[in-house]
Amino acid sequence: MTITVVGSIAYDAVETPFGVRERMLGGAATHFALAASVLHDVRLVGPVGDDFGDADLAVLQTRGSNIDDVERVAGGKTFFWKGKYGWDLNTRETLDTQLNVFEHFAPKLSQASRDCDVLFLANIQPGLQLQVREQCAQAQFVALDSMNLWIDIARDELLEIIGRVDCLMLNDEELRQLTGKPNLISAAHDILGWGPTVVVAKQGEYGSSLITKDDFFALPAYPLHEVIDPTGAGDTFAGGFVGFIASQIGGGVTTPVLRNAMAYGTAIASFNVEQFGTEGVVDVDVAAVRQRVDDLYAFAHFEPIDVALRA
Ligand code: AMP
Repeated sequence: MTITVVGSIAYDAVETPFGVRERMLGGAATHFALAASVLHDVRLVGPVGDDFGDADLAVLQTRGSNIDDVERVAGGKTFFWKGKYGWDLNTRETLDTQLNVFEHFAPKLSQASRDCDVLFLANIQPGLQLQVREQCAQAQFVALDSMNLWIDIARDELLEIIGRVDCLMLNDEELRQLTGKPNLISAAHDILGWGPTVVVAKQGEYGSSLITKDDFFALPAYPLHEVIDPTGAGDTFAGGFVGFIASQIGGGVTTPVLRNAMAYGTAIASFNVEQFGTEGVVDVDVAAVRQRVDDLYAFAHFEPIDVALRA
């Protein structure tokens, strides 16, 4: 029983109001795997260059994640991304994206990675996501992330892969851009007509919303007094969300499982943003995550009181 994740394994250069990092381990698949491995077994798929350090390979293997399908491309350079955050950390500008080894990547999964129960197609070219989807034909739950870049330049392939997954996870402005609908609920319901049964709208510091045919559920982000670096928060959320679903897959992807998955995603993402890069999640343990899940439940819970209201 494993989760297979394919997506970027990267070096990131990041500037936030709290500091600068010129080159730190990042990437969508990296952040996802670190989070999901708190809850379930993970296999990573993706290329790195021969500039990728052994210490970083060791980080990818945190909590036993399997890296047999992480290919070190001789003479290649690891994917590179550079971004800068505004003073309230809500705005982010991408300053550079170098696909490098992803430009000529043709995913060939080992049988063990193909045999996954749960597949996460992290943000990467939709054409590559399609190739991986085809190789993992029997996965019981497949979730997909993407971004505005691919909506702009690879829309047809993106629509094709969306039609072949169970869950689409996007930022809310990307859901609006993808559907051309200004209303988020209406945009999500359009997507529920394209194939997925679950849509998750990621809303940064405001949390996230879950939309299915029969349910709507929203959770705020975990209330932290200090956020240092939001890079990878979306992928870390996805790791907690998908990791929890994978851990419960035997009982089916029910509404209570999805709602709890939202809480696990939110809790693990809160550890990610407290430190730069992968530093916040690498050492996290399940008890610390569980504590924040319990806190979220307490914050969100209320009893309707029976009071007289004006007629
Ligand atoms: P998030 O903050 O969750 O949106 O994820 C940020 C991570 O995504 C960084 O670690 C980057 O390395 C990675 N990333 C940024 N742009 C891309 C892209 N175009 N394709 C794949 N991964 C990317």
